[in-house]
Amino acid sequence: MQYALCTADGTVWESSNFASLPADQLETKRKSLVCSQCSEFAWFRKESSHGHPAHFCAHHREDCDLRVEYVVINEPRNGTNIAEGELQSGDLIIVRLDQEQGSQIDVTEVQPPPGPGATGGGRTFILRNQGQESAQHFTLRRILLRLVQSPTFRQSDTQIVFYKNERDVLISGQVRDIVASFADITREMQSDQLLLYWGPIASAGRTPDGKIWLNSSASNQETSVSIFEDVADEFLSAFGITDLDELAGAHVLVAGRVHFTSTGKPVIWCGSSKYIVVRRYRAAGLQALL
Ligand SMILES: [Zn+2]
Repeated sequence: MQYALCTADGTVWESSNFASLPADQLETKRKSLVCSQCSEFAWFRKESSHGHPAHFCAHHREDCDLRVEYVVINEPRNGTNIAEGELQSGDLIIVRLDQEQGSQIDVTEVQPPPGPGATGGGRTFILRNQGQESAQHFTLRRILLRLVQSPTFRQSDTQIVFYKNERDVLISGQVRDIVASFADITREMQSDQLLLYWGPIASAGRTPDGKIWLNSSASNQETSVSIFEDVADEFLSAFGITDLDELAGAHVLVAGRVHFTSTGKPVIWCGSSKYIVVRRYRAAGLQALL
């Protein structure tokens, strides 16, 4: 879209004017962008090396006039791209982090996905030593999709067990206890305990020490995810990222420890490319040029 509201300066910016801002101002203001109509999280994309012009995008509210439908491309239709029904209370979800694989998800604005009736592709299997109890095997990607799509899931008592490998449990508990959005991170979460954190990315950069920083917005406590230098390149190649600016607007889910800076900003440390997943979005107007 061509316009977005910056809550830091109260201005509705036109995208090419925004692109002309001095770099430091642009980096600050892009963390405070919202849709000018529905006030939901918005982001800025610079002119790309392929010649796509600078523009804004947003995750609009359902009733926003500027809203568009999304569908995932590069994934089978029976995959994780379709809105799934709510899980039953008491369901058990298992995630094997050592089996996580990158690969990007781009979401493009095209025709709405097929209606209800289609279900997700999670397979069911029997847990060893637990009798008849069955569990659904999810990937981090599928957990992130549910978090983005379902406020009910975010607050649910659904039990999730994250395995480091075949035997060792890394994180285990109810969704509402072990998963927090960037906006909901509290000081009490700062400990040696790994938790799951998720939210939108407004900008991304790399410091001279090699760390990658994924920065969220002002409305998300300016939370940052810091990806350690020894796994940074692995992260980029796993998700097919050639330009960090491509991460603007993505949702991220990361298993890590949170610390607060002296200014009160949460930073989540990520030491493994298996513990992080990103979900990227692409604007429809650009599709024809690809
Ligand atoms: Zn909107």
